Amino acid sequence: MSTWHTKSVEATLRELDTSPVGLSTQQAIERLAKFGPNELERKKGKSPVLIFLSQFTEIMVIVLLIAAAISFAVGEMADAIMILIIVILNAILGFTQEYRAERAMEALQRLAVPRVHAFRDGKLQEIESISLVPGDIVILEAGLRVPADARLIESANLRAEEAALTGESVPVDKSIAKVEDEGAALGDRTNLVYAGTTIVYGRGQAVIVETGMSTELGNIATMLQEVTGERTPLQKRMAELGKWLAIGALAICALVFLEGLLQGNPVEEMLLTAISLAVAAVPEGLPAVVTIALALGAQRMVRRQALIRKLPAVETLGSVTTICSDKTGTLTQNRMTVTALDIAGDSISFDQLLKKSQPSIRVNGIGKIIAESDFALLLGAASLCNDARLELDENGDGDRYIAIGDPTEGALVVAAASIGLDKTGIEKQMPRVAEVPFTSERKRMTTVHKLPPAENSDGAAAGLVELFPRAPYVAFAKGSVTELLSVCDRVWANGSIEPLTKEWGWRIEVANDNLAKDGMRVLGAAFAPLDELPKEQSEETLERNLIFVGMTGMIDPPRPEVKEAVVECKRAGIRPVMITGDHPFTALHIAKQLGILSGDDTQQVITGVQLSEMSVEELESIVEHVSVYARVSPEHKVKLVEALKDKGHFVAMTGDGVNDAPALKRADIGIAMGITGTDVSKEAADMVLLDDNFATIVNAIEEGRTIYENIRRFVRYIISSNVGEIFIMMMAPLLGFGIPLTALQLLWINLITDGLPALALGVEPTSADVMDRPPHKPDESVMARGLGTYIIVIGLLLGSVCMLALHLGYNVLSDQNHAIAQTMVFTTLCLSQLGNALAVRSETKTLGQLGLFSNPSMVLAVISGFLVQLAVIYVPFLQNLFHTTALTLEQFGVSLALSLIIFISVETFKFFKNRKRVEPAQEAA
Ligand code: ATP
Repeated sequence: MSTWHTKSVEATLRELDTSPVGLSTQQAIERLAKFGPNELERKKGKSPVLIFLSQFTEIMVIVLLIAAAISFAVGEMADAIMILIIVILNAILGFTQEYRAERAMEALQRLAVPRVHAFRDGKLQEIESISLVPGDIVILEAGLRVPADARLIESANLRAEEAALTGESVPVDKSIAKVEDEGAALGDRTNLVYAGTTIVYGRGQAVIVETGMSTELGNIATMLQEVTGERTPLQKRMAELGKWLAIGALAICALVFLEGLLQGNPVEEMLLTAISLAVAAVPEGLPAVVTIALALGAQRMVRRQALIRKLPAVETLGSVTTICSDKTGTLTQNRMTVTALDIAGDSISFDQLLKKSQPSIRVNGIGKIIAESDFALLLGAASLCNDARLELDENGDGDRYIAIGDPTEGALVVAAASIGLDKTGIEKQMPRVAEVPFTSERKRMTTVHKLPPAENSDGAAAGLVELFPRAPYVAFAKGSVTELLSVCDRVWANGSIEPLTKEWGWRIEVANDNLAKDGMRVLGAAFAPLDELPKEQSEETLERNLIFVGMTGMIDPPRPEVKEAVVECKRAGIRPVMITGDHPFTALHIAKQLGILSGDDTQQVITGVQLSEMSVEELESIVEHVSVYARVSPEHKVKLVEALKDKGHFVAMTGDGVNDAPALKRADIGIAMGITGTDVSKEAADMVLLDDNFATIVNAIEEGRTIYENIRRFVRYIISSNVGEIFIMMMAPLLGFGIPLTALQLLWINLITDGLPALALGVEPTSADVMDRPPHKPDESVMARGLGTYIIVIGLLLGSVCMLALHLGYNVLSDQNHAIAQTMVFTTLCLSQLGNALAVRSETKTLGQLGLFSNPSMVLAVISGFLVQLAVIYVPFLQNLFHTTALTLEQFGVSLALSLIIFISVETFKFFKNRKRVEPAQEAA
């Protein structure tokens, strides 16, 4: 065990040859080469060879190999070889699919690499945590999953949850103080934070001491190897369905076998036929197809900026009925700009303020304080009680600033800088000595600064200090106006301090409402000079008896694409709900702009306070009608999710903070923000929005629905053909036609005529109407909505058409020639299947409406299926192998005509169903 905890900050930095501003890029590269990447050794995925070999362990393949052995034993060399070839082709097909799925999953995992803020070359940068090395200085903040073992060099109320390592679920307070006891338990080394644990509160900086497998987590990593490959509900249901179908098919195969024997066919021939039928009829590919559809679907979603963290989400996304979305950053752009200020009931637009102060500013951020000193105090407080950093925009024209950090805070820092209050410069003279961090529950934060002696201050800091009564320290607070007022007892009125009377409180609230009504995000600021720093620095000691200064209004425009996404949601039977920490008026304004509430909507906005007071029953009675919730804290989100779920809704919920994790877990689909989200929220989520955008959720739902429809299409196609095959194999011998299809013919159908179109169905494009219908129930059977009926009706029709081909071939078009009749059945079945594949592409639209070429792969599959079938009938070598015979034009024509029956029946059915749907609509109109 290491002894980093016994060393002072200075000694640690010295030993690691680093400084508080971190390493240079060159040093980092050298150390990366020496220490290796900061990652735990992971169990490798299956190797390609292993994937290929595993194809031969499938039970059906083993059965086929036995069949080949039987053929070989009875001297049917050609059959034996052909079966082997088919087995290998099958294995190649299975391998390609599984390999693709595996690669797709790996690619997804790579995308999920976490990032951290660290200093390199003296600048704060966002880097992948995998490239961290000992000596790097990283920023720690609430919600971060600690990337490597690190020694704290700065800590403000930092608390870490270390259950993953120590089993202790109560968060541990951290500080930079040395721990003397060398043998202290991990949990008592309070100046260290460990890889894999999470910061739940506070802020700090730390120097990385160990990375990768050398971390404490690395020591126990082998125990933590992730268990992957958990199956999704649909995969489980498919496996179950496949199992029952297999049992049914096998029982029927046994019957066919007995039937053949009773009719006097040789045992080996019947054994081979029964085995082949089993192979052809058992839908062994079903579970695999679901996995592939899900994995490839997840990959398509990433291209549309939605990263899936848990595979089941892909299939269940299609069932979402309600999307509860955060406002800031998801529905809006999170591009905040301060546009208005309000002090003691005196409002001014930011532009006006700039004009008034024009002459005294713009000298690289350090200038004299403007004449409007009240506003300077407001912005000064808001920019010092603030974790965003100010930087001069190097690409700009020299006097423009950009801020790094939270956009709300950034806007304030930039606004302050443009009236001459350069945060970085001021902070050098007025360092932060204590703080109470921001949390979504409290909706405010406070920092305490040590004031410089008058003679040692200059520039903006001196100007700012002059504005209020002298004291050794000053506390600055900012946050939601209501929350801030609750800890203020005085107000700043035209340069003097007055008690916070009822009238003042009322005036401030009205001003707050007025700004919020214009859709602005309003943040108040307060301050208090302090004679001494309280010993115990907490919410109770620092956030009391404050002097309210004023408020700032910021504009955060809605995302333009969201309006359209909201329309699409409503069309698809999904209700968008806005949940925000902001003022109810701000929320209402944005909700109307986005169409979440329509203009004449009489719906109420419900606030967090109201939510807290409601009983479960009361909440359930309104939750289906209210679409805007304001002033909400994370715990309200949990309450909302539960009420919606109780009312039978399938809920997607977004979140970004540490405290959003419970709501994300509770939701049916938890969605975290890729850009602004904390690691904790991402880990709790099923899906991460790489662009933080609401419209991306809607896109992902569309993909989810498409994937589900593709799986249904596949099931409809494969099982209906299997039913047809089984039907003809059972009926023909009963009606005295002997065995209608040879073993090889059955295997051929399984591989080519079923296989190629099935692959093409997998890439069926999103149909234009997937978002025109309501969501499917999450527990809906795959067979629901007429699919089971389709399978049985079409399966029996297919079987009957083949029986007819058998009859015509045997009794009408030939002189009771078994080979001709068999070839006609074979051809009719194969061509029918191609027609079925074309018809199955849509449940509602005819091929004419869909457009033949809207899925080019399908056209290719059908054409090649057709040509291959011609070859099998007319090429002499293949004739020998498949026991076929050349059909006359008449015989082939009849087979072709018969095979069109399936296609025409399904299409006609759809045509009339569409008409019926249109007619009542027209009548209503
Ligand atoms: P949404 O849920 O729409 O993203 P939000 O981002 O406003 O809402 P929070 O981040 O929880 O939600 O913020 C809640 C409230 O706290 C805000 O409306 C604002 O009044 C206040 N607030 C937000 N950020 C800060 C901050 N950095 N410092 C002080 N107060 C803040």
